[in-house]
Parts: sequence; structure tokens; C-alpha cells
Amino acid sequence: MNLLTDRWIPVRPVAGCGVEQISLETLLCEPHQRALSLPRDDMEMAACQLLVCIVQLLWPPTNMEQSIQRIQTPLTKEEFLAGLTGWEESFILNHPEHPFMQVKGVIAKETTGMDKLMVGLTGSTSCAFVNQPGQGEALCGGCAAIALFNQACNAPGFGGGFKSGLRGGAPITTLIQQRCLRSTLWANVLNAESLERDYPEWQKQHCQGFTWQKPIVSNEKIPAHSIGLARGLFWQPAHIELSPPSAAGQCSACGGQADKRYLSFLKAKFNYTVEGFWLHPHSPCVEQTKKGIPEKRHIGFTLPIPCWTQVGRLLISQQLEKNQEGRRAALVIEQARQLANGKPLYMSIGGYRNNQAAIVERRHEVMVFSQGWDRHQDIINEIIHTGQGYRLALRKALYLFVEGMKDNDIIGSRIPVHEVAERRFYRESDIYITRLLATINYEQPLKELESLHLYLSALCQSLFEAATDPYDHHVKLIQTLAISRRVLIAQLSALKMQGEQADEPTP
Ligand SMILES: [Zn+2]
Repeated sequence: MNLLTDRWIPVRPVAGCGVEQISLETLLCEPHQRALSLPRDDMEMAACQLLVCIVQLLWPPTNMEQSIQRIQTPLTKEEFLAGLTGWEESFILNHPEHPFMQVKGVIAKETTGMDKLMVGLTGSTSCAFVNQPGQGEALCGGCAAIALFNQACNAPGFGGGFKSGLRGGAPITTLIQQRCLRSTLWANVLNAESLERDYPEWQKQHCQGFTWQKPIVSNEKIPAHSIGLARGLFWQPAHIELSPPSAAGQCSACGGQADKRYLSFLKAKFNYTVEGFWLHPHSPCVEQTKKGIPEKRHIGFTLPIPCWTQVGRLLISQQLEKNQEGRRAALVIEQARQLANGKPLYMSIGGYRNNQAAIVERRHEVMVFSQGWDRHQDIINEIIHTGQGYRLALRKALYLFVEGMKDNDIIGSRIPVHEVAERRFYRESDIYITRLLATINYEQPLKELESLHLYLSALCQSLFEAATDPYDHHVKLIQTLAISRRVLIAQLSALKMQGEQADEPTP
């Protein structure tokens, strides 16, 4: 199956129903508005990312003007065919010598079921995400390609002896979402102007070869800067080979009819070292100083906290300075700022939370930022800081209630109510803050910021009362409770004062 010419992309109309598998040419050359149709949001995002990577390499727009034109107008057949030149043999799933994202001749004692390629389907320690049973039993070529790509790029390696991708085990991916799949792809493709800046050698990528054409050498030490854009976007860190496919039938993932289905694959341990940092265009990164040496890395979801807390890192770039980390939004988000032109931003955010090889949480959502987001980073920052400030005030006051004050013989409850209250704070404020970011008038935000302060202050007080209520009648805790409540009130008024100062127009 050739990803460039065969029908493998599972789509449905944006309005209406009817799932079908279409080819890349149909997707890119027809004006129809379509969306991906897969049973899992992470698989849909991976399929989108895989398509973005192909379009990035084959049809990079020359400048911003052409980027806009591509988003608006389908490719002509001639443009489509011209883009294929030189890549015809590169994306074939069952190529006899260089199969897509695999290594030919993997030696393994036993075969592994395809469910292992579908991230988090097996060995998950969390029952929080429910999967339709039998999803990974027999995959069509398209779903097998998507699963290979997702496992290689977005998920941790299979455990001991298996490497993770260039961005680490479970990176966050951020993409722009547009009204249909075709325009979404183009919105996430960097044009030559951006490429020149961040991948100066990008025009020579062609010669470098993918990992399935020019395999990584065992125990090789690879400087990250020597990995070109094409090789890096499709980096396969593991030695994997699909077993020969079996008979025709229904694909257990997308539900489409397939003339061949993949039931298993071979995998083998394999080691090498990448030295340094490889900039991935779809991921935000941070720079921190460790032992005096600045170190860059792509970030992941490390805590079970809502996405709004991460917005600063996902959306806003800042220089590394003494007391703050350096941040860079994904290159596609940086480009989106130039493309925004007074329109809102729909940002798909995806990633897994992992504990080594095990997936503990699947995180895929869309965050919306209303028009003006591209010019008012200060307001976005203020919303995030306000949210975090109130959370901290609640936590501090309750922590005092839990720990007491040893020096003054004030005893604490010793029950970690601050942790419970913090989780509730995140859960309840998530809806409010996410909606605020999506609807606020960034030109005139004062009224809505004021409401945010009032809402968060009331939330903190009610969560404080709910957390301490069971201890209300404990005589020994009366004083502790009074002091903690005073601390909370003081903290809340300080935050309100800060908010008011920020609201004053600067002369
Ligand atoms: Zn399928």
C-alpha cells in the first residue's frame, strides 16, 4: 500500500454522514469539506500529523501568501503530481526492501499483536479510558501506518531496551485546527520562509533518506543537528516489522473493508544515542539552566492538571532569563500567529501521560482562543497567573490547617485536605477559565477579568469551607481553623488588589 497514491485516509463529510477511505489526491485536490473518522481522538490526531508531515515534505509553500492560498484553494492535479516526484518509493507500507517506518528483517522469537501498536490499549494501568474491545485485532494498511507513526513519534518505547522518539517518551503535540481536514493540513505546514530560519538545510532533505531507507546504525552516536527535517519528522526509534498481512475483511479500528489486514508485527531491542536537541515543528519546547548549562527539551503532560495551566508554554514564547525558563511555542503555532488576521485560534492539543512504558492518561482536546489572541499575550498570561494565584492561595491556607504552627503550639488536622481541595479547584475552574480564554474580548478585557477574580475568590472560599467543614466541631482545631481562614482572606484580598492595579490604565 502506497500512502501517496492508495485510498487509505478514513474520512467523513464535515456536514452529514458516510465514512469512506480516500486517497491523498482526492483529499488535497477536491474542495469537499471532510474530517477524519477514526474511533479514537489520539488516532485522529496522529493521522492528521502524519498527513501534515507528508504535505510538509512534498508541497512546502514558498511564502505566507502561498500558505494562505493553499488553505483556501485545493491543489491542481498537476501540482499534486509534481509534488510526488522523487518520493514515489518512500511511503510504501509493504515495500519489499524499504517498508514505511519499519526495518526489514527484524529477528524476534515471537510475533506481537497489533493491539500493542495502538498506544495505551494494552498494559494500561488506568481504567479511566475505555476502549472498544478488539480494536487492535486486524488493521487495514491505513490504520497500521497511522499506528506505526503514532507509536514512533508520540508514545514511549515498548519498555526496557526500546528507545522513544526524538521528542522523548510522551511529548505534547499542538496543531492548528481549521474548518476541514484539507485546510487543517495546510495551516500546519511551514512555508519556506519559516523553514529557512529553523531548518536551513531543508532543501537537501531529499538525499538524506528516512530511517527505513538508511537505517540508524546500532550503537551509533548521532548529533541531533545532523538529522534533517524529513528524517526527523518520520524518525522510527524502534526495530519493527509488520508480519505479512492476512486475508481481506473489516478493519477492527476504522471499520473499513480492507483487501489485506495486519494481525501482528515483529520487534527487537535496538540501541543508539542522539546527542543534543532536535527541534520538532509540532511541539512546544522549554529551555532551563541545569548546573549552569542551558538545556532544551520538548515538554509533556507530567501532572493530571487541566490544559489551561500549560497555556503559557503552549502559546507564548519567551527568552531564557535568570528567573524564568525559556519557552518556544511549536513552530506551527508561531506561524499561526502570522496567519491569524483577526481570527480565533482552535488549537488541538494531544499527548499521553506515562509512567515509563505504561500509559496512565490520554490527553487530547481542542482549546479555543477568541480573536485578538495573537496580539494580547499579556492578557492570556494574566488569566493563567490569576488562576494559579488563587489556587496557590487556597493551597497555602489549607496547608496551614493541615500542618498547624509548631512554634506556636497550634496543631494541624494532619489530613491532607489541601490536596483534595486543589484537585477540586482545578476541576471546577477548568470550565470557567477555558471558556474565558475562548470568549474574552481581548481588546476590552477589564470587566471579564474582574468577574474572573470574583469567581475564583468565591470558589476558593467555598472549597475552603467544604474542606474544613468536617473538622468544625473539633475543639483543638478551632484556633487552627480561624488562623487558616484569616490567611485565606488575606491572600484573596492581596490577589484582588493586584488584579485592580493591573486593571488601571497606564498613563
Ligand atoms: Zn482501518
